[in-house]
Amino acid sequence: MNRTAKQLVDYVPQYVSLYDVDYRDDLDGHEDIQEECIRSNSLEKLYEKAYKWYEEQESSNMHGYLEETRKSMESDGCAEQFEEHEDEIRELIYDRNGSDPVKDLIRNSSVTNFFYSLGVEISGYRTDIPWRGESVAMACYKVRRALHLKKGQFDEKIEELVENAAYGGELRIYFNAMFDRLVSEDAENDFRSIRFYGNVVVAIADSLNGSGHHVRIPLDLTLPFRRDNLFVDSQVHYSYADEVCGMANDWCDSTKWETGMTPSTGSVRKSRMAEHQKQEAVYEKIFRSGKCTFGDMNFKRHRDVRYSNGYPAGCRCPHCGTFWID
Ligand SMILES: [Zn+2]
Ligand SMILES: [Zn+2]
Repeated sequence: MNRTAKQLVDYVPQYVSLYDVDYRDDLDGHEDIQEECIRSNSLEKLYEKAYKWYEEQESSNMHGYLEETRKSMESDGCAEQFEEHEDEIRELIYDRNGSDPVKDLIRNSSVTNFFYSLGVEISGYRTDIPWRGESVAMACYKVRRALHLKKGQFDEKIEELVENAAYGGELRIYFNAMFDRLVSEDAENDFRSIRFYGNVVVAIADSLNGSGHHVRIPLDLTLPFRRDNLFVDSQVHYSYADEVCGMANDWCDSTKWETGMTPSTGSVRKSRMAEHQKQEAVYEKIFRSGKCTFGDMNFKRHRDVRYSNGYPAGCRCPHCGTFWID
Protein backbone atom coordinates (compact mmCIF):
# COMPACT_ATOMS: atom_id res chain seq x y z
CA MET A 1 0.00 0.00 0.00
CA ASN A 2 2.85 2.33 0.91
CA ARG A 3 4.59 1.46 -2.28
CA THR A 4 1.46 2.21 -4.29
CA ALA A 5 1.08 5.61 -2.65
CA LYS A 6 4.65 6.47 -3.49
CA GLN A 7 4.16 5.38 -7.04
CA LEU A 8 1.03 7.49 -7.41
CA VAL A 9 2.98 10.58 -6.47
CA ASP A 10 5.53 9.72 -9.11
CA TYR A 11 3.02 9.18 -11.87
CA VAL A 12 1.24 12.50 -11.44
CA PRO A 13 2.96 15.27 -13.41
CA GLN A 14 5.22 17.39 -11.23
CA TYR A 15 4.14 20.73 -12.71
CA VAL A 16 0.46 21.30 -13.17
CA SER A 17 -1.24 24.29 -14.68
CA LEU A 18 -5.00 23.98 -14.63
CA TYR A 19 -5.60 27.54 -15.84
CA ASP A 20 -4.14 29.17 -18.84
CA VAL A 21 -5.31 32.79 -19.00
CA ASP A 22 -4.94 34.35 -22.44
CA TYR A 23 -2.84 37.52 -22.37
CA ARG A 24 -5.79 39.37 -23.93
CA ASP A 25 -8.06 38.49 -20.99
CA ASP A 26 -8.08 41.17 -18.34
CA LEU A 27 -10.31 42.94 -15.85
CA ASP A 28 -10.45 46.29 -17.61
CA GLY A 29 -14.03 45.67 -18.67
CA HIS A 30 -14.96 44.39 -15.22
CA GLU A 31 -14.64 47.43 -13.02
CA ASP A 32 -17.90 46.42 -11.39
CA ILE A 33 -16.15 43.37 -9.95
CA GLN A 34 -13.17 45.50 -8.95
CA GLU A 35 -15.58 47.75 -7.07
CA GLU A 36 -17.07 44.73 -5.29
CA CYS A 37 -13.58 43.71 -4.19
CA ILE A 38 -12.90 47.22 -2.94
CA ARG A 39 -16.18 47.37 -1.00
CA SER A 40 -15.63 44.00 0.65
CA ASN A 41 -11.85 44.42 1.03
CA SER A 42 -11.43 40.95 -0.44
CA LEU A 43 -10.72 39.28 -3.76
CA GLU A 44 -13.24 36.56 -3.04
CA LYS A 45 -15.88 37.86 -5.48
CA LEU A 46 -13.27 37.91 -8.20
CA TYR A 47 -12.14 34.36 -7.46
CA GLU A 48 -15.77 33.22 -7.63
CA LYS A 49 -16.14 34.81 -11.07
CA ALA A 50 -12.77 33.65 -12.36
CA TYR A 51 -13.33 30.03 -11.39
CA LYS A 52 -16.64 30.21 -13.22
CA TRP A 53 -15.07 31.78 -16.33
CA TYR A 54 -12.36 29.13 -16.45
CA GLU A 55 -14.45 26.20 -15.33
CA GLU A 56 -14.39 24.48 -18.72
CA GLN A 57 -10.69 25.08 -19.15
CA GLU A 58 -10.03 23.67 -15.71
CA SER A 59 -12.01 20.50 -16.35
CA SER A 60 -10.48 19.91 -19.76
CA ASN A 61 -6.97 20.45 -18.36
CA MET A 62 -7.79 18.16 -15.47
CA HIS A 63 -8.96 15.57 -17.92
CA GLY A 64 -5.69 15.88 -19.81
CA TYR A 65 -3.59 15.37 -16.66
CA LEU A 66 -5.71 12.40 -15.60
CA GLU A 67 -5.28 10.83 -19.02
CA GLU A 68 -1.55 11.43 -18.95
CA THR A 69 -1.34 9.79 -15.54
CA ARG A 70 -3.56 6.90 -16.57
CA LYS A 71 -1.48 6.20 -19.69
CA SER A 72 1.82 6.15 -17.89
CA MET A 73 0.35 3.89 -15.20
CA GLU A 74 -1.12 1.66 -17.86
CA SER A 75 2.20 1.25 -19.59
CA ASP A 76 3.64 0.07 -16.27
CA GLY A 77 0.75 -2.35 -15.93
CA CYS A 78 -0.94 -0.36 -13.14
CA ALA A 79 -4.25 0.34 -14.88
CA GLU A 80 -6.18 -1.10 -11.96
CA GLN A 81 -4.48 1.15 -9.47
CA PHE A 82 -5.46 4.14 -11.50
CA GLU A 83 -9.13 3.15 -11.34
CA GLU A 84 -8.84 2.52 -7.65
CA HIS A 85 -7.09 5.80 -6.77
CA GLU A 86 -8.57 8.19 -9.27
CA ASP A 87 -9.90 10.55 -6.57
CA GLU A 88 -6.52 10.73 -4.84
CA ILE A 89 -4.83 11.38 -8.15
CA ARG A 90 -7.28 14.17 -8.83
CA GLU A 91 -6.48 15.68 -5.43
CA LEU A 92 -2.76 15.47 -6.15
CA ILE A 93 -3.24 17.28 -9.43
CA TYR A 94 -5.11 20.07 -7.64
CA ASP A 95 -2.36 20.27 -5.03
CA ARG A 96 0.29 20.63 -7.68
CA ASN A 97 -1.56 23.25 -9.67
CA GLY A 98 0.61 26.34 -9.73
CA SER A 99 -1.61 28.58 -11.84
CA ASP A 100 -3.95 31.21 -10.43
CA PRO A 101 -6.38 32.72 -12.93
CA VAL A 102 -6.97 35.77 -10.73
CA LYS A 103 -3.27 36.61 -10.53
CA ASP A 104 -2.96 36.26 -14.28
CA LEU A 105 -6.02 38.40 -14.97
CA ILE A 106 -4.72 41.14 -12.67
CA ARG A 107 -1.31 40.98 -14.32
CA ASN A 108 -2.96 41.57 -17.71
CA SER A 109 -5.04 44.52 -16.48
CA SER A 110 -4.45 48.26 -16.62
CA VAL A 111 -4.70 50.64 -13.72
CA THR A 112 -8.14 51.84 -12.72
CA ASN A 113 -9.32 55.41 -12.06
CA PHE A 114 -10.14 55.75 -8.38
CA PHE A 115 -11.27 58.64 -6.27
CA TYR A 116 -10.97 59.15 -2.58
CA SER A 117 -13.75 61.36 -1.31
CA LEU A 118 -12.84 63.95 1.30
CA GLY A 119 -16.47 63.91 2.42
CA VAL A 120 -16.84 67.64 1.72
CA GLU A 121 -19.72 68.99 -0.34
CA ILE A 122 -19.21 72.26 -2.18
CA SER A 123 -22.41 74.11 -2.92
CA GLY A 124 -22.35 75.88 -6.29
CA TYR A 125 -24.98 77.34 -8.58
CA ARG A 126 -28.31 75.62 -8.86
CA THR A 127 -30.77 75.76 -11.72
CA ASP A 128 -33.53 77.40 -9.70
CA ILE A 129 -31.66 80.30 -8.07
CA PRO A 130 -29.30 82.85 -9.60
CA TRP A 131 -26.60 82.72 -6.91
CA ARG A 132 -24.21 80.17 -5.47
CA GLY A 133 -25.22 78.03 -2.52
CA GLU A 134 -22.15 79.38 -0.72
CA SER A 135 -19.63 82.07 -1.61
CA VAL A 136 -16.47 81.28 -3.54
CA ALA A 137 -14.49 82.37 -0.48
CA MET A 138 -16.36 79.92 1.74
CA ALA A 139 -15.93 77.13 -0.78
CA CYS A 140 -12.18 77.84 -1.05
CA TYR A 141 -11.91 77.79 2.72
CA LYS A 142 -13.56 74.34 2.85
CA VAL A 143 -11.23 73.01 0.16
CA ARG A 144 -8.14 74.38 1.93
CA ARG A 145 -9.22 72.92 5.25
CA ALA A 146 -9.81 69.49 3.72
CA LEU A 147 -6.40 69.59 1.99
CA HIS A 148 -4.64 70.84 5.15
CA LEU A 149 -3.56 74.06 3.42
CA LYS A 150 -3.25 77.57 4.77
CA LYS A 151 -4.48 80.68 3.04
CA GLY A 152 -1.79 81.73 0.62
CA GLN A 153 -0.94 78.19 -0.45
CA PHE A 154 -2.13 77.47 -3.98
CA ASP A 155 -4.90 80.08 -3.70
CA GLU A 156 -5.14 80.48 -7.45
CA LYS A 157 -5.44 76.77 -8.11
CA ILE A 158 -8.13 76.42 -5.50
CA GLU A 159 -10.08 79.39 -6.86
CA GLU A 160 -9.79 77.94 -10.34
CA LEU A 161 -11.20 74.68 -9.04
CA VAL A 162 -14.12 76.26 -7.19
CA GLU A 163 -15.05 78.71 -9.93
CA ASN A 164 -14.92 76.16 -12.74
CA ALA A 165 -16.87 73.56 -10.82
CA ALA A 166 -19.73 76.02 -10.99
CA TYR A 167 -22.41 73.57 -9.90
CA GLY A 168 -20.39 72.38 -6.95
CA GLY A 169 -20.17 68.76 -5.92
CA GLU A 170 -18.00 66.52 -3.84
CA LEU A 171 -14.33 67.23 -3.14
CA ARG A 172 -12.24 64.28 -4.29
CA ILE A 173 -8.71 63.15 -4.97
CA TYR A 174 -8.27 61.19 -8.18
CA PHE A 175 -5.57 58.60 -8.67
CA ASN A 176 -4.76 55.50 -10.64
CA ALA A 177 -4.22 52.15 -8.98
CA MET A 178 -4.11 48.45 -9.59
CA PHE A 179 -7.25 47.70 -7.62
CA ASP A 180 -5.79 44.73 -5.75
CA ARG A 181 -3.29 47.03 -4.07
CA LEU A 182 -6.24 48.66 -2.33
CA VAL A 183 -7.35 45.35 -0.85
CA SER A 184 -5.48 44.79 2.39
CA GLU A 185 -3.69 41.49 2.88
CA ASP A 186 -5.76 40.66 5.92
CA ALA A 187 -9.41 41.65 5.53
CA GLU A 188 -9.75 42.11 9.30
CA ASN A 189 -6.85 44.50 9.35
CA ASP A 190 -7.67 47.29 6.93
CA PHE A 191 -5.36 50.14 5.97
CA ARG A 192 -5.21 52.97 8.49
CA SER A 193 -3.99 55.81 6.35
CA ILE A 194 -3.60 56.89 2.77
CA ARG A 195 -1.00 59.35 1.57
CA PHE A 196 -1.31 61.40 -1.60
CA TYR A 197 1.72 63.13 -3.02
CA GLY A 198 3.23 64.12 -6.34
CA ASN A 199 1.05 66.31 -8.52
CA VAL A 200 -2.24 65.48 -6.88
CA VAL A 201 -5.43 65.63 -8.95
CA VAL A 202 -8.06 67.41 -6.87
CA ALA A 203 -11.59 67.55 -8.22
CA ILE A 204 -14.99 68.89 -7.32
CA ALA A 205 -17.42 66.56 -9.03
CA ASP A 206 -21.17 66.33 -9.03
CA SER A 207 -22.09 62.72 -9.79
CA LEU A 208 -25.82 63.34 -9.50
CA ASN A 209 -26.01 65.80 -12.37
CA GLY A 210 -22.73 65.08 -14.13
CA SER A 211 -20.43 68.08 -13.88
CA GLY A 212 -17.21 69.13 -12.24
CA HIS A 213 -13.67 70.37 -12.63
CA HIS A 214 -10.20 69.32 -11.50
CA VAL A 215 -6.79 70.87 -10.91
CA ARG A 216 -3.36 69.46 -10.12
CA ILE A 217 -1.71 70.63 -6.91
CA PRO A 218 1.71 69.47 -5.62
CA LEU A 219 0.60 68.24 -2.20
CA ASP A 220 1.80 65.78 0.37
CA LEU A 221 -1.25 64.83 2.33
CA THR A 222 -1.81 61.88 4.65
CA LEU A 223 -5.41 61.13 5.56
CA PRO A 224 -7.14 58.50 7.64
CA PHE A 225 -8.14 55.61 5.41
CA ARG A 226 -11.88 55.27 5.22
CA ARG A 227 -12.88 52.48 2.87
CA ASP A 228 -16.40 53.88 2.48
CA ASN A 229 -14.87 56.92 0.80
CA LEU A 230 -12.89 54.97 -1.78
CA PHE A 231 -14.55 54.38 -5.16
CA VAL A 232 -13.86 53.04 -8.61
CA ASP A 233 -14.81 56.14 -10.58
CA SER A 234 -16.64 54.32 -13.37
CA GLN A 235 -18.95 52.73 -10.81
CA VAL A 236 -20.35 56.00 -9.50
CA HIS A 237 -22.65 57.59 -12.07
CA TYR A 238 -22.20 60.01 -13.57
CA SER A 239 -18.58 59.05 -13.50
CA TYR A 240 -16.39 62.11 -13.63
CA ALA A 241 -13.49 60.74 -15.68
CA ASP A 242 -15.51 58.82 -18.21
CA GLU A 243 -19.06 60.12 -18.46
CA VAL A 244 -18.43 63.78 -17.62
CA CYS A 245 -14.99 64.41 -19.17
CA GLY A 246 -14.28 61.42 -21.42
CA MET A 247 -10.70 61.29 -20.17
CA ALA A 248 -8.00 58.81 -21.21
CA ASN A 249 -7.22 56.22 -18.55
CA ASP A 250 -3.87 57.78 -17.57
CA TRP A 251 -5.30 61.24 -16.83
CA CYS A 252 -4.74 60.99 -13.07
CA ASP A 253 -1.34 59.25 -13.16
CA SER A 254 0.34 62.31 -11.66
CA THR A 255 -1.16 61.58 -8.24
CA LYS A 256 1.17 59.32 -6.28
CA TRP A 257 -0.23 57.39 -3.37
CA GLU A 258 0.51 54.81 -0.73
CA THR A 259 -1.49 53.17 2.00
CA GLY A 260 -0.20 52.78 5.53
CA MET A 261 -0.93 50.66 8.56
CA THR A 262 -0.25 53.32 11.19
CA PRO A 263 -3.28 55.40 12.17
CA SER A 264 -3.38 58.94 10.86
CA THR A 265 -4.60 61.90 12.86
CA GLY A 266 -7.61 63.90 11.77
CA SER A 267 -10.82 62.66 10.32
CA VAL A 268 -12.52 62.35 6.98
CA ARG A 269 -16.27 62.68 6.82
CA LYS A 270 -18.30 60.00 5.13
CA SER A 271 -18.96 60.40 1.42
CA ARG A 272 -22.55 60.70 0.25
CA MET A 273 -21.65 58.60 -2.76
CA ALA A 274 -22.26 55.27 -1.02
CA GLU A 275 -25.93 56.20 -0.66
CA HIS A 276 -26.01 57.53 -4.20
CA GLN A 277 -24.55 54.28 -5.47
CA LYS A 278 -27.20 52.26 -3.63
CA GLN A 279 -29.96 54.45 -5.05
CA GLU A 280 -28.51 54.04 -8.55
CA ALA A 281 -28.46 50.27 -8.12
CA VAL A 282 -32.16 50.31 -7.22
CA TYR A 283 -32.98 52.46 -10.29
CA GLU A 284 -30.99 50.09 -12.50
CA LYS A 285 -32.75 47.06 -11.16
CA ILE A 286 -36.17 48.60 -11.69
CA PHE A 287 -35.21 49.65 -15.22
CA ARG A 288 -33.99 46.15 -16.08
CA SER A 289 -37.27 44.71 -14.83
CA GLY A 290 -38.99 46.79 -17.53
CA LYS A 291 -40.17 49.68 -15.37
CA CYS A 292 -38.80 53.10 -14.40
CA THR A 293 -38.79 55.42 -11.40
CA PHE A 294 -40.21 58.93 -11.04
CA GLY A 295 -37.38 61.26 -10.10
CA ASP A 296 -34.60 59.19 -11.68
CA MET A 297 -33.01 61.93 -13.79
CA ASN A 298 -30.98 59.58 -15.97
CA PHE A 299 -33.09 59.56 -19.13
CA LYS A 300 -31.39 56.35 -20.28
CA ARG A 301 -33.40 54.57 -17.60
CA HIS A 302 -36.75 55.58 -19.06
CA ARG A 303 -38.45 54.42 -22.24
CA ASP A 304 -40.36 56.35 -24.92
CA VAL A 305 -39.30 59.75 -23.52
CA ARG A 306 -40.89 62.45 -25.71
CA TYR A 307 -40.33 66.14 -26.19
CA SER A 308 -43.31 68.36 -25.52
CA ASN A 309 -43.64 71.96 -26.67
CA GLY A 310 -46.22 72.81 -24.05
CA TYR A 311 -45.44 74.95 -21.03
CA PRO A 312 -43.00 74.34 -19.56
CA ALA A 313 -41.23 72.81 -22.54
CA GLY A 314 -39.14 69.72 -21.97
CA CYS A 315 -39.06 65.96 -22.13
CA ARG A 316 -41.42 63.69 -20.27
CA CYS A 317 -41.47 59.98 -19.58
CA PRO A 318 -44.98 58.74 -20.39
CA HIS A 319 -44.62 55.85 -17.93
CA CYS A 320 -43.55 57.46 -14.66
CA GLY A 321 -43.98 61.16 -15.45
CA THR A 322 -40.36 62.22 -14.82
CA PHE A 323 -39.88 65.59 -16.50
CA TRP A 324 -36.70 67.19 -17.80
CA ILE A 325 -37.12 70.92 -18.16
CA ASP A 326 -35.68 72.35 -21.36
ZN1 LIG B 1 -10.86 10.26 -21.47
ZN1 LIG C 1 -40.04 56.81 -16.64
